[in-house]
Amino acid sequence: MSEQTNDLKAQSGLDLNVPAGNPDIEPPELSVVIPVYNEEAGLQTLFDRLYPALDALHARYEVIFINDGSRDRSPLILSDQYRKRPDVTRVVLFNGNYGQHMAIMAGFSQARGQSVITLDADLQNPPEEIGNLLAKLREGYDYVGTIRQNRQDSWFRRHASRAMNNLREKITHITMTDQGCMLRGYSRQVVQMLNQCEEGRTFIPALAYTFASRPIEIEVAHEERFAGESKYSLYSLIRLNFDLVTGFSTMPLQAFSLLGVVLALGSTALFFLLLVRRFVFGAEVEGVFTLFALIFALIGVLLFGVGLLGEYIGRIYEQVRGRPRFVIQAILEQDPRG
Ligand code: UDP
Ligand code: MG
Repeated sequence: MSEQTNDLKAQSGLDLNVPAGNPDIEPPELSVVIPVYNEEAGLQTLFDRLYPALDALHARYEVIFINDGSRDRSPLILSDQYRKRPDVTRVVLFNGNYGQHMAIMAGFSQARGQSVITLDADLQNPPEEIGNLLAKLREGYDYVGTIRQNRQDSWFRRHASRAMNNLREKITHITMTDQGCMLRGYSRQVVQMLNQCEEGRTFIPALAYTFASRPIEIEVAHEERFAGESKYSLYSLIRLNFDLVTGFSTMPLQAFSLLGVVLALGSTALFFLLLVRRFVFGAEVEGVFTLFALIFALIGVLLFGVGLLGEYIGRIYEQVRGRPRFVIQAILEQDPRG
């Protein structure tokens, strides 16, 4: 048993073109990557369903849990599980909370499998579906997306994400019927491309889609969250959607320039209209409130534009600072040579 601490390469999450570990050892066929953030209530049930489902596949596999800085007992439960199944379990411990997508990125940089499947820890994605995804990857598809059948989320969540999905598809040209489902499969080639990306904020299913050459989508079952609550507040969902749009397109900026042109043309026309009016009917004094309304509306548009610009600039700033995207405190894993 070896406990790698503060491996510099792993810390930055970069330079991982080759699967981690000893190249002489035959890699497993499948890596399952699971981000975990404050999931103590549901983890045991996850293990109870996940491991039997994987054992039934008769494939060499590994499960990589990434503890995304949980403040509950999740890291303890994960290390217990590591002790029970050290041959197929690896646990990456972050020193803080870097978000679901960074956790998955760390999992990808550690994964050794020929295929990699991501899964949520809350059992909303049934582990029993992994076999269906693996079958598609074996057929040669390099990206297996999923569509949730009768999605078990609140009415608001479902409708909000459908609207967002439509908008996002128009803006980014990334086709994902159901962008929110994280039960997805990727081939080693796609994962290698992902490991070369250095962006600090991203949306993995979309990023992977841009690298895929044979994508496919399949339907999977969806269940209610087994325990605990969603880790995404409305605010963090909005932020995530901003990441998704700004990370894959500059179209919002162009749309804004266009809007600016239209408004400028409109107000020039209005100016000439008022000028002519001034000489035909004399000076105008009424309509002050209309003017106010117009100006406030324009200020709103302007502020939105400044904010939008800020979204891009903030991301540029984060990126140029070039800080490590996440910090790995420790990795619990067995030396693959046994
Ligand atoms: N998660 C994470 N870091 C975070 C938030 C969430 O690793 O900052 C994990 C969480 O433990 C779960 C998955 O990401 O395994 C999806 O989170 P959640 O179920 O809360 O999202 P939802 O299903 O509501 O979209
Ligand atoms: Mg969930």
